[in-house]
Amino acid sequence: MLFSKLYAPTIKEKPADSETISYELLTRGGFIRKVAAGIYTYLPLGWRVIKKITKIVEEEMDKIGAQEFMMPIIQQAEIWKESGRWEDYGPEMMKLSDRHGREFTLGPTHEEMITFIVRNELRSYKQLPLILYQINQKYRDEIRPRFGLMRAREFIMKDAYSFHSDEKSLEETYQDFYRAYSKICERLELNYISVEADTGAIGGTDSHEFIILASTGESDIYVCDSCGYSASEERAQSKIPENIPEEIEPLEEVPTPNVKTIEDVSEFLKVSKEKIVKSLLYVGRNGYVMALIRGDYELNESKLKSLLKDQTLRLATPEEVQRDFGVPIGFIGPVGIDGVKVQKVADLSIKNLNNFVVGGMKEDYHYINTNLNRDFTVELWGDIRTVKEGEGCPKCGNQLRHTKGIEVGHIFKLGTKYSEKLNGYFVDEEGKNKPYLMGCYGWGISRTLAAIVEQLHDDNGIIWPISVAPYTVEIVIVNTSDEEQRTFGFKLYEILKSRNCEVLLDDRETSAGFKFKDSDLIGFPIRITVGKKLKDGKIEIKKRYEEKGVEVSIKKGLEEVVDLIEKTIEEYSTKFIQNNLTIS
Ligand code: ATP
Ligand code: MG
Repeated sequence: MLFSKLYAPTIKEKPADSETISYELLTRGGFIRKVAAGIYTYLPLGWRVIKKITKIVEEEMDKIGAQEFMMPIIQQAEIWKESGRWEDYGPEMMKLSDRHGREFTLGPTHEEMITFIVRNELRSYKQLPLILYQINQKYRDEIRPRFGLMRAREFIMKDAYSFHSDEKSLEETYQDFYRAYSKICERLELNYISVEADTGAIGGTDSHEFIILASTGESDIYVCDSCGYSASEERAQSKIPENIPEEIEPLEEVPTPNVKTIEDVSEFLKVSKEKIVKSLLYVGRNGYVMALIRGDYELNESKLKSLLKDQTLRLATPEEVQRDFGVPIGFIGPVGIDGVKVQKVADLSIKNLNNFVVGGMKEDYHYINTNLNRDFTVELWGDIRTVKEGEGCPKCGNQLRHTKGIEVGHIFKLGTKYSEKLNGYFVDEEGKNKPYLMGCYGWGISRTLAAIVEQLHDDNGIIWPISVAPYTVEIVIVNTSDEEQRTFGFKLYEILKSRNCEVLLDDRETSAGFKFKDSDLIGFPIRITVGKKLKDGKIEIKKRYEEKGVEVSIKKGLEEVVDLIEKTIEEYSTKFIQNNLTIS
């Protein structure tokens, strides 16, 4: 390809709406253009990378026996009503209706659709296991479509679904996906980690996420360097010191004028935060839920939603609290609250805690010396706390380390959740009708494009791994009006092309500085400079991540130069950069 013909409009300045480095560099490098919030166009360079990522994913899927096919993006509301997710999936679903008023959604995911498709024809144990996958656009009306391609409203996903007659078969396929996903990360030459994950709105049992490490990532990860335990924040657990039981004191109501936050209460009453129980009021599908947690810990909403199996859960507003309980939100507490009106859910951190402080259910009052069972009861116990760095690993007790990354892949064991609801049954060897066991496996193709850039860049631009670089080699003719440089550049370009090397020739009539800036910004792995020194029989070969290139003599002939370029391609490794990465 000739740069003079390539549609890659590069931009010098940072875009005004720059949200993250990948958005900035992909926009400036002429890979993508934002069309509306969370909606993007892939320009030729961006699309080349997308296709390369896609190819790697497809190859690894094919290796584990997954068959590619294609489902529609528009899905009828009925199947979502069958599963119950028409309501449960929440406002992330993009809904539309046709001229007859029939409702549809633009598929945010395809569990319902796949089950609907196979349920009439996948009827015998002899047809199992079956793994199908597709690559297409998904639609989610994300509450905050920011971070460029990382959290888009229209994005490209590979989604696979598997069907099994027994647990063993599901487990085998799950492990196949686990290995295939690890292989994809390796082929992308990325620094990654796999972590135990929450099953969220999709539901199910086991789940792992594949995370590309990057300090700019949205995923918080806790890792134990001693035993290898790793989990996402929504799932991570830790050992917490047990509360030591004390002699129980009588409950007392005390005035606490204008004292609202945990800090205020702690200061005003001269008690440590560990002796205060926070009461957080939520509204869910079945009404109010009060989540109780020790004052020094943070509540984890994802864990709470999973525990209650209610993805619609949200914090109650101050107005709702005032209207329904007659107190300002800062003074709510579990004493005197009826478990029928409000379900009380407590974090394990308050087990065995005695004589603690809670809201007084009366403006400007708190209770001190509150005790479980005597003063109030808890309807549901669970781990609903966010882990903190330095706490003990739940497996070995060693300190947990916090790191950040970008989730690119997510695998789930769904069990029979969708097959039961959507009537996906098969006949087993004994002639019995059974729901299939299912798995689902997502990979964010367009998010991967952004994640690579988040991990691999420097001040000047992107540093592509060879495996997905839009072009492997770029030849820069420094002075296009110099006939010798032009001739040599074009000749080298033709030879590289004939050797199946993906090469771009910068033949534009612009300044050398401009070309080099674009070269670094776009981030071609190998740059060959044909410039002034050609007169002395020298050109330069440079790896994108190295400061300086290597001068090469062309005197021995072009074949030898090309061999050297090929050798440089072989040696190129982004591991080199990753070893110097610091991720906070
Ligand atoms: P997140 O927690 O980031 O919202 P998710 O759990 O909703 O992700 P899944 O439903 O598991 O994501 O989707 C599978 C994959 O699709 C994710 O691992 C991610 O790579 C990609 N993905 C999900 N949401 C988006 C989005 N809004 N934009 C781009 N890619 C996305
Ligand atoms: Mg999501």
